[in-house]
Amino acid sequence: MITTEQNIDHRLISILEQVSDPEIPVLSIMDMGVVRSANFVDGIVKVEITPTYSGCPAMDIIGDDIKIALKESGYESEIDLILYPAWTTDWITPRGRKALEDYGIAAPLDPEADKNVLLNGKRIVKCTNCGSQNTRLVSQFGSTACKAQFQCDDCQEPFDYFKCLK
Ligand SMILES: [Zn+2]
Repeated sequence: MITTEQNIDHRLISILEQVSDPEIPVLSIMDMGVVRSANFVDGIVKVEITPTYSGCPAMDIIGDDIKIALKESGYESEIDLILYPAWTTDWITPRGRKALEDYGIAAPLDPEADKNVLLNGKRIVKCTNCGSQNTRLVSQFGSTACKAQFQCDDCQEPFDYFKCLK
């Protein structure tokens, strides 16, 4: 697991927690683990964010949303993109994983299990509707490239699985 230090001024945490992920509105960018740092430098808030999947065209939106949220609290800000270390699904917080599941997206498994699911067709992803593991991969790509599409063979519900990314 790649660990990175998050360095966020405590005055800014509650503001940043109000900014949601553009693709998964129930998830805040803090729960996604996208914000690396946010600090006051010469009266301006400098925010460093790490893009999630490169295929997700959401980072410009996230940057703008952060600026708007900070502005509403009276702060000017600058957003920097930090590409290394790359974002991994490990950075999603436990609260974020719970929010994903509640939203109907199965949270990422560990890399080994992820491979077994996506490449070997193992039935281990839990259905977000009924909890059954009798689920199968329908498509490697769900509503976005970050997700794979699954169907539950017990309750027949289709759902997305958030792919593991290292
Ligand atoms: Zn089900």
